[in-house]
Amino acid sequence: MRRTLVIVKPDGINRCLIGDVITRFEKKGLKLIGLKMDLLKVYQLKDHYVHLQDKPFYEELLEYMSSIPCVLLALEGKDAVAVVRKLVGSTNARDADIGTIRGDYAMSVQTNIVHASETEDAAEDELKRFFKDEELFEYDKMNFNWLYCNSEQGKYDHVENEGKSSEAEYFEEKEEIKKDQENE
Ligand code: UDP
Ligand code: MG
Repeated sequence: MRRTLVIVKPDGINRCLIGDVITRFEKKGLKLIGLKMDLLKVYQLKDHYVHLQDKPFYEELLEYMSSIPCVLLALEGKDAVAVVRKLVGSTNARDADIGTIRGDYAMSVQTNIVHASETEDAAEDELKRFFKDEELFEYDKMNFNWLYCNSEQGKYDHVENEGKSSEAEYFEEKEEIKKDQENE
């Protein structure tokens, strides 16, 4: 399972979209493992947006993101980083696909409702930046068995599967072992 960070930005708060945003992730099957409201500090935002420090919109972005509290979500799921980015849509909300959060709710390249981590490494760094360890939770969810198949839940992890690049290959080999056993 992977974890990722989502921030409901100040425009999302102002436009009464906190509930809708959380609902979309919940309904997709992502597991909420952290949730809080916080006024983001400029020093945190400088780290968070360091890759944009030379852009003309950088100062405006820091001001906007620190203007009122944001809502921060930590989400868990298989391929969570990529799945969440898909649900969020492209940066310029006017270009974002309909059906995505930005595509459905926003009109701006800056006030685009949500932030979502771009890579797995970035997600881990961003979670550390905005959540303390004790603010992230491990718990069982009742619908877990319905969201993922047995192999995706790691139910076969005890079977030797090292060196297999995909689940398909893994199961091919299992079939071969089964056939060999039947022929013995
Ligand atoms: N942004 C902006 N003007 C731009 C591009 C980006 O104000 O021309 C803001 C916008 O709020 C965006 C954030 O900077 O979400 C981070 O930019 P990035 O390229 O990382 O996009 P994202 O990962 O949020 O899609
Ligand atoms: Mg980004």
